[in-house]
Amino acid sequence: MQYEVVIGLEIHVELMTASKLFCGCSTTFGGEPNSNCCPVCLGLPGSLPVFNRRAVELAVTAALALNSEVQLRSRFDRKNYFYPDLPKAYQISQYDQPLGRGGYLEVELTGGKRRVNLERVHLEEEAGKLVHAGDSIIGAGHSMADYNRAGIPLLEIVTAPELHSGQEARTFLEDLRSLLLYSGASDCKMEEGSLRCDANISLRPEGSSKLGTRAEVKNMNSFRSVELALDYEVRRQEQVLSEGGTVVQETCHWDEAKKQTITLRGKEGSSDYRYFPEPDLLPLVLEKTFVENLAHQLPELPATRRERLQEQYGLEKEEALLLTSNRELGDFFEAAAKQYPGYRHLANWIQGDLLYQLRESGKRLNEIEPGLLVDLLLRLDEGRINRPVAKELLAEMVQSGIDPKEAIKERGLEQITGRDNLLPVIEEVIANNPEAVDNYRQGKKKALAFLVGRVMAATEGRADPAELNRLLQEKI
Ligand code: ADP
Ligand code: ZN
Ligand code: MG
Repeated sequence: MQYEVVIGLEIHVELMTASKLFCGCSTTFGGEPNSNCCPVCLGLPGSLPVFNRRAVELAVTAALALNSEVQLRSRFDRKNYFYPDLPKAYQISQYDQPLGRGGYLEVELTGGKRRVNLERVHLEEEAGKLVHAGDSIIGAGHSMADYNRAGIPLLEIVTAPELHSGQEARTFLEDLRSLLLYSGASDCKMEEGSLRCDANISLRPEGSSKLGTRAEVKNMNSFRSVELALDYEVRRQEQVLSEGGTVVQETCHWDEAKKQTITLRGKEGSSDYRYFPEPDLLPLVLEKTFVENLAHQLPELPATRRERLQEQYGLEKEEALLLTSNRELGDFFEAAAKQYPGYRHLANWIQGDLLYQLRESGKRLNEIEPGLLVDLLLRLDEGRINRPVAKELLAEMVQSGIDPKEAIKERGLEQITGRDNLLPVIEEVIANNPEAVDNYRQGKKKALAFLVGRVMAATEGRADPAELNRLLQEKI
């Protein structure tokens, strides 16, 4: 039988506030364990939560960016469960009155642009972090609890079950990440846990309208793992169904080392959590103007910018996609494009050499001056330097911050062009390498590259490659 894959995601992102959701503790990542804690986030008796206004602003901003309907009145509930990552034994979360209802994201999926709907967007507090001895929850002899994270504001985003493969889930997440980065709500660092995703997945016979029984997969810590884990689950469930079995509703754990999912526990239902209204907080009531102001301040979002870049600069879709994958990259391109009219040439250098050099050197884009790249490209276009020199200068510009204009002047890197300048060198190379010249005459094309290399070496890489090739062939 043919099955259709159905996937819904629950995404959690930490909001970029300086302090926690209900207390003044710092949200800094990586501090000494249990150093950013107080009676409120440790749930000590008698402590009371107080709202962080900035968290509400960021949550509303993200909800607006996600096209979710922001509720002027929402409420907090206690979600009760007993687990060592939760010092109060309940999590303050939103249940039947979330901050945002519905919403959607337009995603470029196989088969074109598609709208993926959201069920809800809500605000809650982060739990603490358990560090398992031996790194895995499976078979750990003991675990240690770090409550630095407990109480950091968390946004939960729940999609409708509308994704149909591991790859679609991954693409959706990548787009969601870029949108949240643009909105400034979260830094979305999967490796630091500020963006996490649980995936629900089920299969159903092709054409059926009823959802199948799902499994929930947790513990994927990269986009790639999400894709791998979902592909694995698809195969596992297919196997179960094709053998006439039934999929059990359960929660499983992605084992990154073994590349497989492992059953953790039966899936709890919401009644297990005994939700009830949080008695220590008033309902969250927003003024209409508060929401409207945040809507006005929303920056241009990636999908809109993507289309504008294609239209305004004549870029290809793929180029625009890459340049809008984060805000800094698009800003860098547009700042440089103000001073440089070869837009696609510029885009190519940014996505090729510049990004490569940034990755190699670990430098950040905001340390690079767009004008310096423009200077370099202008000199290349004018033929004053050749391409290899330009690449070398770009590498140094990123790595050690040199000014390419200055370097060209000081080091005499200007390209050597013109018959009169090149011929003497070429003739000398021909005279000194009779064997290669012979080889070339006998049809060994590779010998030409060797001779070009000799001339380049003799001119310290500054010869104009096109002219050099022409003259060399003319002479031998
Ligand atoms: P939970 O009790 O786990 O919070 P929800 O009803 O809130 O359950 O759904 C959580 C996620 O699971 C949502 O993204 C939803 O789209 C998805 N989901 C629900 N049922 C299925 C199913 N049968 N197959 C795949 N995904 C599903
Ligand atoms: Zn605290
Ligand atoms: Mg849910």
